[in-house]
Amino acid sequence: MKLIKETPSENETEKDEPKDESEAKTDEEMETKKTKKDRGKYVFECQKCGKCCEKKEAVIISMADLSRWNEDMTLPSVYQFLEIEIKNNDHVQISLKKPETEEGKAEEGCPLYDEQNKICNIYFSIPLYCKSFPLGYDGDKYFLKDKSCPGIGCGKMSEETLKKARCDAKEDFEARISTAMLLPVINGLALKFLMEQSKKQIERLSEDQKEKLKEIMGEEGNNRTT
Ligand code: SF4
Ligand code: SF4
Repeated sequence: MKLIKETPSENETEKDEPKDESEAKTDEEMETKKTKKDRGKYVFECQKCGKCCEKKEAVIISMADLSRWNEDMTLPSVYQFLEIEIKNNDHVQISLKKPETEEGKAEEGCPLYDEQNKICNIYFSIPLYCKSFPLGYDGDKYFLKDKSCPGIGCGKMSEETLKKARCDAKEDFEARISTAMLLPVINGLALKFLMEQSKKQIERLSEDQKEKLKEIMGEEGNNRTT
């Protein structure tokens, strides 16, 4: 299902909507007119099937999510699942991921999904990506993040709900843009911080410990070249 134009074009409105009561015919005809008018409009009602949480490879996280989690104290419980990846050498992405298995395999599904009870463990502070799901926005138009979501086309969509869905999708898009802009700076700062911390720790070592460290580092280096 494609998303969809925001309002019917003038021609369609003139063609599909009766101008006054005398033009309205039977209920069936009205229903046909309504269907034609609504065709292409985003309609969604979550069916609570859990597919979007069970099958996810990763949930994309924005700086806005991290900042909110920091404020509402959610961060300590999600910290272990956060991963920063560099995509295509320049694009940095923060995501929520299940830890790899002992065999090094990446497990499917969101680590915060409670499969037994079919609930999100952080629903009270849900990531912007999930809050706007399945509606996405690319800075120009809306799109469906996952066309297989069973909630698409279900229920009724009031103007107010549609407006909120669009707002959430835009908020998710804007948060990602800000995150993409900030991450290289944050990465640089984190790296600098880690290097300074390591330097300080090495300075605190005794001479014996420093010698042992040199031996270990030497062995590591040799192992890498053999
Ligand atoms: S958003 Fe879609 S896939 Fe996810 S639980 Fe709701 S209906 Fe299922
Ligand atoms: S954060 Fe919650 S809503 Fe989002 S994928 Fe995980 S369990 Fe589902």
